[in-house]
Formats: sequence, structure tokens, C-alpha cells
Amino acid sequence: MAVCVVAPKEVASGEKRVALVPEVVGRLAKAGNRVCIETGAGEDAGFTDAEFTAAGAQIIGTPKELYGSADLVLKVQPPTAAESKLMREGTVVIALMNASRNLDLVAAMRDRNLTAFALELVPRITRAQSMDALSSQATAAGYKAVLIGAGLSPRFLPMLTTAAGTIRPAKVLILGAGVAGLMAIATARRLGGMVEGYDVRRAAGEQVRSLGAKFLELQINAEGAGGYARELTPEEKALESKMVSDAVSQADLVITTAAIPGRKAPVLVTKETVGRMKPGSVLIDLAAETGGNCELTKAGKTIQVNDVTIVGPLNLPSQTAYHASQMYSKNLQAFLGLLVTPDGKLVTDYSDEILAASLLVTAGAVRHKPTADLLAAGK
Ligand code: NAD
Repeated sequence: MAVCVVAPKEVASGEKRVALVPEVVGRLAKAGNRVCIETGAGEDAGFTDAEFTAAGAQIIGTPKELYGSADLVLKVQPPTAAESKLMREGTVVIALMNASRNLDLVAAMRDRNLTAFALELVPRITRAQSMDALSSQATAAGYKAVLIGAGLSPRFLPMLTTAAGTIRPAKVLILGAGVAGLMAIATARRLGGMVEGYDVRRAAGEQVRSLGAKFLELQINAEGAGGYARELTPEEKALESKMVSDAVSQADLVITTAAIPGRKAPVLVTKETVGRMKPGSVLIDLAAETGGNCELTKAGKTIQVNDVTIVGPLNLPSQTAYHASQMYSKNLQAFLGLLVTPDGKLVTDYSDEILAASLLVTAGAVRHKPTADLLAAGK
């Protein structure tokens, strides 16, 4: 019997992405799966029902009917408690679950006896690169952040030599050179800005320089477990604070992307540093959702402090919904390669390293230990 794979219209406020795009629907349908898409699921991202139908999907009018027929539910955002209730027991659901911040939704999936995989828990090993939704969505965020910043800046980014005089290039500073930061550097360079990048991981220096940007060197290397950054010591923080403050005070556009997994974002730009920023300068804080890299950031808001604009965007990938959905959908397609056998059966043995790491809930139990601990502690 074919596996029934469904993708609903996302219900979270402001979410424009969709988990499946027509190209991936075509591949899943060709492999013998039944694919169902909710009416209008892709319209905010630029994919029409007609395109989904042409790719081999069936369009379903109501969430009740859609979820009722599903073996496998593909989502961007975690299912709401109401959505979980519409799914049959044993349904497998895959999404970016952001479990520590959605404990009630995790409990709802557990109580409904669903099997849930959290795509953000996929380990960053070579074999899983094509499934790395954190990277694909961070790419979208880094790109969009620069465009928003360029749009808000009263300056051109490139150097221009015109009959009306020569324009000096804008100084763009990117703090945090992970996936989003490197994409922001590449985008700002393409727009002609004079770009500097900074990260606490020394290995990031080579990547920053390879994109044609200058790397701000601090004589520390805070690379921790799994290639991620570790928290800095108080002495290191003082060194960082001085260097970052000087660099921020000279920039026209600052994009901050610094993150430490499982922790509040590090503060890199203090209130005092904002006070040193140039009039008309812009700061886009990609860490707004996890507390912000700038002390003054207000999540989801654009504020003006003196003559500086500070933006704390939420869900930036949704603002490039077409390509963010396309990349996310391909991540899911790769993940399904582990979960659906070539003869069309759902895998029930989750011992594969990637499945085991990303398994959040199954058979009435929370399997991801940090999340189980948080639930047990009633947090
Ligand atoms: P992230 O979103 O966790 O953090 C963003 C960046 O912030 C990181 O580069 C981090 O070093 C930096 N940072 C943290 N504290 C900082 C501070 N105080 N000052 C300045 N910068 C600070 O990172 P990410 O984009 O998810 O990438 C994290 C790591 O994972 C990187 O080493 C990246 O190369 C690696 N990675 C590996 C794979 C793979 O192998 N498949 C895929 C993607 C990323």
C-alpha cells in the first residue's frame, strides 16, 4: 500500500512557507506515494494548487480530511494541539519543532501517540547535509537580513563613480559567521559593500576571507563541542566587547547572527555601543528570537534609538518563502529517503543515527532527552 504523504497550509501567524513544493511532490508521487496538499497551502509562497495538481498531488479542502488520511505529515512549524488531534494515532509528523519553546505541543503529540521528528535535531554530519534545514533556512535569513538593512539605510552600499561625484562604499559589519552570517557576507559583498566579519570560532576566519571580506581577529578561539561556539569567559568577553564596540561604531550596516546552541544569544552590542553608532546606521539582529545580540533589540519590532534603526525580525525565512520552501522541501525529501522504503513502506526501526537523533516523540514517550527533562521539570 502506498504511503499517504500530506502537507497542510501552515496556520502559524506570519508563516508563508509550505513544506512541500511541486517539484518534490512530483518526485514523491513518481516513487509511488500518494501526496495530498491542502487547498491554498502554497499560495503565500508562490505555488498554486494547479501546479501541485500537475505534479501529481491531490488537493484536499479541509484539514480534517487531510490529516485524517495521512500516514506522514510534513510541516514547517510544529503542529498545534488542534492539528495533532486531527491526526490518526501512529501518524508520523516531521517539522521544525523548536521543542524547548513548544513543550505543550510536544506533550500534545505524545498524548496523541504520534511519532514526531524534529528536523532541527538532524546531526550535522556529512551524510545528513542534504537534510540540514537549519542551514537552508539560515541561508534565507542571512540573505534577507542584508536586503532589509540595505532598504532601511539612507546610503548606497556600492562605491559609485558618477558625474555627480564619487560615493564611498558603505561599511557592513557581520557579527557571527555561521551559515546565516556567511550568506549575509556574500550578499553584502555582491551589493558592493565594504564588508567585515567576526566570529569567535577561528575556523570561520578562512571562510570570511574566502568571501572577500575582512576578518576581525580576536586572539581567542571559542570553538566548542560539535564545531559550535562555546560561551566566552569573562576575560574573553571584555576583549570582545571592546573590539566589537569599535567596529560597530564605524559601520553603516550591522547584521548580528551570533548564537550558542541551547542558550540565550550572546549580547555583542550594548546600549553604550549603540550610543556610539553613526547617525543613519542600521542594525539587523537575527538573534532577536533568542534574546537578541543587541541589548536594545525588541523582537518583532523596528525601533529608532537616536538616529540608529534597530530591527529584530522574526521568522525571516518566511519572507523569502518561495526559495525557503523549495530548500526546506528538498531537505524533507532527503530525510524521507531514510523513512520510506523504496517499496513504499514506512520504516519503524529508528536506529539509524540520523533518525535516532531527530526522533522527538514516539509511542507515547518523549525520546529526545533534553526535551523530556524539561517536560518532567514542568518548564
Ligand atoms: P549558529 O547559528 O549556532 O551560530 C551562529 C554563529 O555565531 C556561529 O558561527 C558561532 O560561532 C557564532 N558565535 C557564537 N557566539 C559568538 C560571539 N560571542 N561572537 C561572535 N560570534 C559568535 O551557527 P550555525 O550557522 O548553525 O553553524 C554552527 C557550526 O556548524 C559552524 O561551525 C558551521 O560551519 C557548522 N555547520 C556544519 C554543517 C555540516 O557539517 N553539515 C552544516 C552547517 C553548519
